[in-house]
Amino acid sequence: MRVVLILFWLAAVLALLAPVLRRLTQRPLGARAALPDELVKDPVCNTYVVKSRALSRVDGGEVRYFCSAECARRAASG
Ligand SMILES: [Zn+2]
Repeated sequence: MRVVLILFWLAAVLALLAPVLRRLTQRPLGARAALPDELVKDPVCNTYVVKSRALSRVDGGEVRYFCSAECARRAASG
């Protein structure tokens, strides 16, 4: 009967750990925010900027990053 108890215990532990393991294995959408030093490319002057310091603009549903307001303005104007 001890085997049944161990199996029941294992099932209970797995049921408790399943959501935690799922969270660990899946890459959450917010993972980008957890990497503040990620480098992004400014499409105007082709400079790599630290994402946390870059200016972001949403252009056609796509986020673009710029090193400065000047580059953001230049991208918007043409
Ligand atoms: Zn720039």
